[in-house]
Amino acid sequence: MKKLIAGNWKMNGIQASLEEVARLVIGLDGGAASDRDLLICPPATLLAKMAEEFSDVIFVGGQNCHERESGAHTGDVSAEMLADAGASYVIVGHSERRADHHEVDSDVKAKAMAARRAGLTPIVCVGESEAQRGEGEALNVVGAQLSGSLPEEEGELVIAYEPVWAIGTGLTPTLGDIAEMHGFIRDRVGSGVRILYGGSVKPGNAHDILAIKDVNGALVGGASLKASDFLSIVSAG
Ligand code: PEP
Repeated sequence: MKKLIAGNWKMNGIQASLEEVARLVIGLDGGAASDRDLLICPPATLLAKMAEEFSDVIFVGGQNCHERESGAHTGDVSAEMLADAGASYVIVGHSERRADHHEVDSDVKAKAMAARRAGLTPIVCVGESEAQRGEGEALNVVGAQLSGSLPEEEGELVIAYEPVWAIGTGLTPTLGDIAEMHGFIRDRVGSGVRILYGGSVKPGNAHDILAIKDVNGALVGGASLKASDFLSIVSAG
């Protein structure tokens, strides 16, 4: 299965930041990486321009979408709008959205279904908190999130396992714990779904993480903002 290396820029990036993508493309020798898919999910304001300039080398995606196609939802962006701007993927259920916007599994499921309706591949994020891991509940928590967040119908899907306590902290689970969780998710979703690991992936740990069975790529936050770091991760493993 071709690995997917996805960058989540979060609420970072202005027009000038597209230069980082240009640097990434130069680092890739101007062509797409043949053995892995690259995706950047910039803020919605940059999506159309990024897609226009770089979609021959990278995929571009959204960081969230509304479940409806259009309507009176001030400030929201629909999956159809993301697709129209050139997106191929959209992240749904990121732990920051679950925390900041009180999104629950049923919201995430509706967004994942909206993504598919618009022809986008949803990247559904799941992951336990530090306390839940400490209590030995990580597999149960992720199992429940999968049950509640995934569309019932077959279709394009990517899962991102992102332990909440590993995001932006520099901490990561042991390689054994990542392998255990990815094996657990694989048993639930079958062989055709890419399962990404996310949470403090850096140039220094990407090789070991990407070598784990059932890790089919990475969702990278902070280290995706600098072309040199992202390039090292893309080239790892
Ligand atoms: C993320 O936001 O999805 C993420 C994994 O962030 P970071 O790589 O910075 O931990």
